[in-house]
Amino acid sequence: MNDLLNICLPCGLCCDGSLIGHVQLNREELPALRELLDIEDENGNGFFLQPCSKYCDGCSIYSQRPKQCASFNCGLLTSYEQNELDFDSAIEIINRVKQKKIAIEKNLVALNIKLKSESFYFKMVELKKVLQKIKSESSLTKKHIELTVDLEELDSLLTNSFGISSY
Ligand code: SF4
Ligand code: SF4
Repeated sequence: MNDLLNICLPCGLCCDGSLIGHVQLNREELPALRELLDIEDENGNGFFLQPCSKYCDGCSIYSQRPKQCASFNCGLLTSYEQNELDFDSAIEIINRVKQKKIAIEKNLVALNIKLKSESFYFKMVELKKVLQKIKSESSLTKKHIELTVDLEELDSLLTNSFGISSY
């Protein structure tokens, strides 16, 4: 196992729905992947929603994973690969994202905000709109403000460290 693999194993943020909401599939790879994953059809191509059912402390179909997964390198991995970031700093950033996610999920429960999406990524897109609506219709409570700040911090962590476009 090399160091590059080591940074992805404790991370998994591109498989659990944090960084991306769905994985796009080409028509050529559909037959083989249909045996492994629950695929939605889309104009002859396909996709599946995250969190990925094959993520379990790493990819359980690694040698057969979709092309999008095989070619995906986030900004954090690239920085690590290019020695711009050391292992401990990379893991610290990954942990900060995970802690932010926990804080957001906790406040969603406390505020009884129900979101329809299963994927954390799409949930955050929905949440942004919900918070804007609450702000325009009434004043935000302390918990709403905490949630807004956590969402903004997570958004900027993902944009700046992972190179992912904003929720
Ligand atoms: S988000 Fe980046 S560091 Fe994390 S598992 Fe995916 S490619 Fe690896
Ligand atoms: S197929 Fe594997 S690499 Fe692709 S999203 Fe699922 S767990 Fe991650």
